[in-house]
Amino acid sequence: ANGYGTLMSVIQEHDNLPFLQESLDRHFWHQHQSMDTLVGVLSEYFAVERPWAYKDVWEEWVVDDFVGSYMSRLSPFGLKPPARLGEVARFVNEMHHSVAIALAAMWPLNFWRTDPMGPADYEWFENHYPGWTKSYGGLWDAFRDMSDPSSARILLQELPALPAFCQVCHVPCVVPSIHAPETRIVYGEGKEFAVCSEGCEWIFNLNPTIYSGCANWWERFDGMDLADVILALGYVRPDGKTLIGQPHLNAERM
Ligand SMILES: [Zn+2]
Repeated sequence: ANGYGTLMSVIQEHDNLPFLQESLDRHFWHQHQSMDTLVGVLSEYFAVERPWAYKDVWEEWVVDDFVGSYMSRLSPFGLKPPARLGEVARFVNEMHHSVAIALAAMWPLNFWRTDPMGPADYEWFENHYPGWTKSYGGLWDAFRDMSDPSSARILLQELPALPAFCQVCHVPCVVPSIHAPETRIVYGEGKEFAVCSEGCEWIFNLNPTIYSGCANWWERFDGMDLADVILALGYVRPDGKTLIGQPHLNAERM
């Protein structure tokens, strides 16, 4: 069920090793960008009682269980641990914080609701990710202050621009840190695309054709008014009310 039997049969043939190694390196990075972001954001920013810090369970689940236990049994056949394991560890410490505030800032484009956070949340993040308050506290302060419609501003307006989305992993290009993104531009099929990181650039260049055919968010809605984008996304109910999850839960303001 965990693919071990299949891998064991394929790896017996030594000529398969380069293909297996490339496949492992590629999907380890891709899965990390997508899944570590998703699980990190959901488990820390959409929970009130947080059972653990994601970076700690990542050490256990990915480093100890996957690399240490699962992968190590394949090393006698020549398969090496994923090439970007160190880079993934660097990203896991911060990237979900950056993606969480970027997604919160663009709430008029989301179909889910993001809660403003309070002092207990700030304390939890600072305890588990020292330096969090300095990097992200001000942004979450602004998100909370602007969550009431009377502020007449939304955090999205305070960003220099809506970030690009990575053509490979589809994460907003604000990683590993929204303060120092490692975005780069790649070329495929005569067009330019944004990718979020060196890992996604490497994956894109392995086969530009397969990553060039899909229109990303920017390309699909290029030149459209925001109101028309929201209609196209299906966020307006038949009675004319929107399905957009506004941050505040003040009944008098709903
Ligand atoms: Zn990416």
